[in-house]
Amino acid sequence: MWEYAPAPESRDIANLKPNYRMFIDGQFVEGAGDPLKTVNPGTEEVLAEVSTAGQADVDKAVKAARRAYERVWGRMPGAERAKYIFRIARLIQERARELAVLESLDNGKPIKESRDVDVPTAAAHFFYHAGWADKLGYAGYGPDPRPLGVVGQVIPWNFPLLMAAWKIAPALATGNTVVIKPAETTPLTALVLAEIIQQADLPPGVVNILAGAGDVGAAVVSHPDVDKVAFTGSTEVGKIIQRQLAGTGRRLTLELGGKAANIVFDDAPLDQAVEGIVNGIFFNQGHVCCAGSRLLVQESVADELLEKLHVRVSTLRVGDPLDKNTDVGAINSREQLTKIQELVESGDAEGAERWTSACPLPDKGFYFAPTVFSNVSQAMRIAREEIFGPVLSVLTFRTPDEAVAKANNTPYGLSAGIWTEKGSRILWAAQKMRAGVVWANTFNRFDPTAPFGGYQESGFGREGGRTGLEAYLDV
Ligand code: NAP
Ligand code: MG
Repeated sequence: MWEYAPAPESRDIANLKPNYRMFIDGQFVEGAGDPLKTVNPGTEEVLAEVSTAGQADVDKAVKAARRAYERVWGRMPGAERAKYIFRIARLIQERARELAVLESLDNGKPIKESRDVDVPTAAAHFFYHAGWADKLGYAGYGPDPRPLGVVGQVIPWNFPLLMAAWKIAPALATGNTVVIKPAETTPLTALVLAEIIQQADLPPGVVNILAGAGDVGAAVVSHPDVDKVAFTGSTEVGKIIQRQLAGTGRRLTLELGGKAANIVFDDAPLDQAVEGIVNGIFFNQGHVCCAGSRLLVQESVADELLEKLHVRVSTLRVGDPLDKNTDVGAINSREQLTKIQELVESGDAEGAERWTSACPLPDKGFYFAPTVFSNVSQAMRIAREEIFGPVLSVLTFRTPDEAVAKANNTPYGLSAGIWTEKGSRILWAAQKMRAGVVWANTFNRFDPTAPFGGYQESGFGREGGRTGLEAYLDV
């Protein structure tokens, strides 16, 4: 082991302002709600005050979006829309460092991830969808698929900018206008995206970005003049929204929680699998809906794999999100930290064997050391519930059939992983797995060209790829 000297990215790059305002009808405005204070989870300091929406602001945003849809955006030729979307993509690239540092400050994720994953993938979503805007007639939905109108979108805190891009880009490419609400704990990069949208000269009202807590989200999704709702967040809130929209004829897609199985067969290259397992559960502190949170290992290689895993996880550096050497950053909020602690205690109480990395943790901020539970049985809460933190539950199996049965024994079905040398086994298992995405000999790969979405309580509808366009078109 060796020590790493601190390598902090400068926080000045974030251009942090003391106050942020919402973006309605092309203007930055104060909302009628109480301003919220957004916190740096790495240090617990307040970063900025953000103005939030009242009901009248939500109405204003929806009206602006309706006007923009009817007068400008809904009737603009796709080739013209594409120019704006390409411009947004390029401006994200130009302001990439600023966005990355701001994201790490507001969310707590390591700078190497916001810099190398979140921001470039956000830009990639705009580039990819810009390319579709003038080709929708060739997407397989008839010669002239029409937009739906005004789209209401609500997103979570785990990938704040990326989720905003993931939602806004396809809506714009297909000719819809947007009212979006980022999560209460991570509003800042979405509001800088609003600056970028203004810089790109997008017509006023085409994208409106509100801030606030769940009540603002509820006001957006239940607004009678919203034609389609796209939600990413917890299964619990997804169910509430589905009930609210039932019978209204308004369209809905839900991207919800997950409890993905990552299956390692005895013929897998174990060192490579260890890297994939680590990426699967410790990427973004495990705040990933498609995280590989249930490791299923074939019994004959379980001891060897677990030993390698402990050695590798011991080397993960936990700490300052702005340090370029940090592997695992801060838990996004005290509330989430408490939830992780509670579930880990249930694992102890139900008799699983806990191993926690001995890595040092900072004194201030919300941190949780990487943890691996072995001897986990399927009935335990840590095998069933989404922990949404850096905690892995390890179960074993003897036969491929048992592996698939255990993998599918969950109310969720968002993603899965398979590690094996045999191509035939990959195809066999992938066919039997009830999961929207199945990764083979890799994990947590994201690409705007590939559809993403769930089965069962992980939601419905797909985002990304040609399939993802369908959710925003009247087909
Ligand atoms: P959450 O509570 O469901 O929050 C998600 C968003 O919904 C936030 O903006 C939230 O506002 C808002 N909201 C809360 N109550 C609402 C309501 N009644 N109506 C409308 N909007 C409402 O989820 P979370 O716990 O913050 O986020 C983590 C969850 O998201 C995890 O379960 C994870 O699996 C899931 N997730 C899924 C995907 C996917 O693609 N499937 C991706 C990322 C995350 P506040 O910020 O004020 O709470
Ligand atoms: Mg929340």
